[in-house]
Amino acid sequence: MFKKILIANRGEIALRILRACRELDIASVAVHSTADADAMHVRLADESVCIGPPLARDSYLNMPAIISAALITGAEAIHPGYGFLSENATFADMVEAHNLVFIGPTANHIRMMGDKITAKTTMDELGVPLVPGSPGELASLEEARQVAERILYPVLIKAAAGGGGRGMKVARSADELEAAWREARAEAGAAFGNNAVYMEKYLDKPRHIELQILADNHGEVVHLGERDCSLQRRHQKVLEEAGSPVISHEQRAALGATVTQALKKIGYRNAGTLEFLYQDGQFAFIEMNTRLQVEHPVSEMISGIDLVHEQIRIAAGQPLGYTQDDVKLSGHAIECRITAEDPETFAPSPGLVDVFHQPGGFGIRVDSALYAGYRVPPHYDSLIAKLISYGNTREEAIARMRRALREFVITGIKTTIPLHQRILEAPDFIDGDYTIHWLERFVAG
Ligand code: ADP
Repeated sequence: MFKKILIANRGEIALRILRACRELDIASVAVHSTADADAMHVRLADESVCIGPPLARDSYLNMPAIISAALITGAEAIHPGYGFLSENATFADMVEAHNLVFIGPTANHIRMMGDKITAKTTMDELGVPLVPGSPGELASLEEARQVAERILYPVLIKAAAGGGGRGMKVARSADELEAAWREARAEAGAAFGNNAVYMEKYLDKPRHIELQILADNHGEVVHLGERDCSLQRRHQKVLEEAGSPVISHEQRAALGATVTQALKKIGYRNAGTLEFLYQDGQFAFIEMNTRLQVEHPVSEMISGIDLVHEQIRIAAGQPLGYTQDDVKLSGHAIECRITAEDPETFAPSPGLVDVFHQPGGFGIRVDSALYAGYRVPPHYDSLIAKLISYGNTREEAIARMRRALREFVITGIKTTIPLHQRILEAPDFIDGDYTIHWLERFVAG
C-alpha cells in the first residue's frame, strides 16, 4: 500500500479523498492555489504545497507544478478527484513517466472514452445499446441532413470532446439544423479546441441512468447498481438518487451483466461510470466517465462500499477480493448538490460565509469543505456542499432529506437549499415521476 498520496484537487472532493487516506493510514499532500491558502483541505492535510495563482489553468491544471509537488514531498501516487485533470490522458501519462501512480484508469482508456465517438463505437462493438445517431463524426452539414432524415427530427448535435453539457445543440426541424450545426461546432471549438461533432436522436422523455463500476488490475469487474440523475438544469445534475425509482431488479442485473462483460473485454480498471438514457424500457449508452463522480456517495450508501478506498486499493495493485454476488445493495440514498448560487436566478454568489451549521442525525451525510469565516472564492465551481440522506426505503430517505434541509444553515452567501426544499415537496418528485426535462420546467414555472 502507498505511504503518501498527493490530492490534485480542492473543495469537498479533496477532503473526501483526504479522509479515505487517513482511514487507510496513508499520509496526504494537499495542493492549492494562492486563493485557497486557508481552505479546509489544506488545513487538514498532512502537508501542503502552493502550486500557483487563483486561475485554475495556472494552479489546479498546472501539470508540471503538481508533478513537482509530488516529487518534492515524496508522494507515490496522485488522486485527481473529479473535474480538473481527472480525465486528462496527457496528465496520466506524465504521472506514470515520473514513476508515480495515477489513481484511475490507464491513459489509453481515458483517451478512448474521452472521445465520445470512439467511446460509442467501442461500446457498440461490445454489444452495449446506443442512442440512434450518426455512425461517427459528421463530415459536413450535408451528412448531418442525411442522418437527421434517417433518424427523424428532433436531433441533437454533440461535441466529440464534450463535457459539462457544452457543445450540445438541438434541431427540432430541418430549418434549425444549420444553426445547430454551426453553434455546436463553434462552442466545441472554443471550449475543447476540437470542433468535431456527431448526431443523436433527441429523446423527448428519457431518464438519465448511470451505472457505477469498479474494476481491479486482475480482471474482476463489479457494478454497484444505478444512479438516477435525471434532475438536471442545463444538462447539469442537481439531485441524484440510488437506486432509480423506475428500474427493476431484473433490469439492473441485465444491464450490469452487459456492462461488466464489456469492460472485462477492454481490460478497464479502477472506478468508472457508464451513462445511459432510458426511455420506453430501453437503455441507450451516451458516454463513459473514467473517474470518480460527484454523485458517488449515493452508491456508497446503498452498497456499503467506500469507492475512494477501493480506488486507492486497486491502484496499489490489490485485488477487489469480492465478486458481483458479494455486492449487496439495500435501501435508498439521495444527494442534493448545494451550490453558492441564487436559488431562483442561479447567479453565482461567492463571498464570506457567516454561519455554517450542518445537519446530522441518523441517515445523514454532509460532504463539504465549508466553515464559518471561510470566503467562497469566485474562481471555481459553485458546488459548496453535498447533502446525502439514506433510508431503508425511498420514503424514509425523502423524509430525512427534508428534515436535514430544514436544519442546514449557511448565511452570508446565497445557496440552492431553498430550491432543493421545493423539489423535495413536489408531487412529481415524490412519485418518482420525472424525466431529464422536468427540472427545467419546474424552475421556469
Ligand atoms: P456531457 O458530457 O456534456 O455532460 P452527456 O452526453 O453526458 O454530455 O449528456 C448530458 C445530458 O444531456 C444528459 O444527461 C441528458 O440530460 C442530455 N442528453 C444527452 N444526449 C441526449 C439525447 N440524445 N437526447 C436527449 N437528451 C440528451
